[in-house]
Amino acid sequence: MKNRFDWEKGFGIDFDLSGGHSKNAEVTRRYLSQMEGVFADETERKRQCRKEDVLVYEFYELGAPEDSGDLSFGTTVLYPGKVGKEYYMTKGHFHTILDTGEVYYGLSGTGYLLTENKAGDIEIHKICPGEAVYVGKGYAHRTINTGDTPLVMLYVFRADAGHDYETIRENGFLRRCVEKDGEVEFFENHRG
Ligand code: MN
Repeated sequence: MKNRFDWEKGFGIDFDLSGGHSKNAEVTRRYLSQMEGVFADETERKRQCRKEDVLVYEFYELGAPEDSGDLSFGTTVLYPGKVGKEYYMTKGHFHTILDTGEVYYGLSGTGYLLTENKAGDIEIHKICPGEAVYVGKGYAHRTINTGDTPLVMLYVFRADAGHDYETIRENGFLRRCVEKDGEVEFFENHRG
């Protein structure tokens, strides 16, 4: 996979604007059955899984060498849906190299990037087509789809950053995002 593109000389690649797909990228899929402990209502998540184990999100990676100076980029496609009142979201992560920034660029759909650092500072960024979001160094990030269509984003970050999913898996984020009376609402997630 790492030799599929010429990372030394550079290359061009197309991504589908509405679907986020690219025929040369490697796809990773996350189904609702793989999202244990992510949503507040675990009983409802399991009930939905029994009915149908839906695809919640997928990302298309190009397999950049994990070297300093290289950039990892690709697309994330987060499908619309809810567990109870809580919108579908990605698991979210810190980077192993904590001081890593990341760029997201909205290609289609609407939602939010929920970010927080280890000091407990929270930043919530709206994401929509044609707008870029810069996630600051040290901020964990999670994408939330609050629309009715797939939320498709291009991402770019340093290729040697690594991923720390564990911290979020254990603690969750400081905010949850739900639909309340037809509006998007963020509320405090009481952890531990
Ligand atoms: Mn990231």
